Amino acid sequence: MSSKDNLQLSQQEQQRYLRQTQLSSFGESGQLRLKQSKILIIGLGGLGCPAAQYLTAAGIGEITLVDEDHVSLSNLQRQILFSEPDIGKNKSQAAKEKLQTNNSDVKIIAFPHKLNPHNAHQLIKRSDLVLDCTDNFHSRYLINDICAHYNKPWVYASVLGFEGQVALIKPEHSCFRCLYPELAETPNCNQAGVLGVVPGIVANMQALLAIDYLAHINANGVSSNSNRLQIIHGLNSRSINLFKSNDCELCSGEKNYLDYASGYQDYEQLIENIPEEQKISWADFEKLPAENTVLIDVRSKAEHLAFNRGGMNIPLEDLSKSLQIETDKNYVFYCQSGQRAAIALLDGRTISEKENLKNNDVYYIHENLSIP
Ligand SMILES: [Zn+2]
Repeated sequence: MSSKDNLQLSQQEQQRYLRQTQLSSFGESGQLRLKQSKILIIGLGGLGCPAAQYLTAAGIGEITLVDEDHVSLSNLQRQILFSEPDIGKNKSQAAKEKLQTNNSDVKIIAFPHKLNPHNAHQLIKRSDLVLDCTDNFHSRYLINDICAHYNKPWVYASVLGFEGQVALIKPEHSCFRCLYPELAETPNCNQAGVLGVVPGIVANMQALLAIDYLAHINANGVSSNSNRLQIIHGLNSRSINLFKSNDCELCSGEKNYLDYASGYQDYEQLIENIPEEQKISWADFEKLPAENTVLIDVRSKAEHLAFNRGGMNIPLEDLSKSLQIETDKNYVFYCQSGQRAAIALLDGRTISEKENLKNNDVYYIHENLSIP
């Protein structure tokens, strides 16, 4: 779709979206705003499926679907986008196929991977709005922290049993950590059970919040829908206002996403998934061209002073603010056991994404630190 195409509605689009453009508070201008919008839907389960269906039908310009999971028989009771022939298929890909048959004008991107601290940056920063359709706090904190970093609004939703919660969260007003400062280990639908229509209701509220925000339905007044937490219990609902908490370390700027990195849980798995060519030995390091290679000890200053194998010292916790990326350099991280260096690689890669540094220019030394 060329940018010119984004500036007007085709005849077919005028016809397709007539029932919503007829609404005076929406109109063709609202439709054009949807057409120009990019959204990210994280999780294609009981929430993501109905939300994606309505948002595709409504004519969002681009929708990226994130889910690494596969469709199973027990999903079909609430994930009504999927049918029996989809069992075993990746959810993001199966969803894309189905959604595209509803609306071929929408650009739909399937991302069949789990959200993690690296891909979250790339996915979130290119989106206008993020829908959290996940089922766990780790993912929500990650979405929250990266959205706060890029000042991106997102729609939080969760469902358990007969109860659901949904809120449009704008980082300038408050954040998920203001509401839930501590990681709450609540069961998910798989563990606690859920009636299929409840995520359907909550997902439709998510879709409505998304459309309301993107189409500027409340453009003439202050949107009443942001930073209000709607709590649905069966057929009853109530809402509470969300405020920036004085104790929130993220909103106060005391901490950023990197400080919470270990809380995203999947670091061990991420470290395992670092490509083999990025895990190098000291002997491999010696073969890298010295003039293009920056060696960084990510241990503490005291450890570095006690013993080191050269390079500069940037403790892991200071990496985000102190690492200066030069595009033509290789970066090699080391520490005592390889653990912190691996985290540094993950963080360094995340930091360096802004600078277009290729992944294979960043290495970590997986050997224990010892005197050569
Ligand atoms: Zn906060």
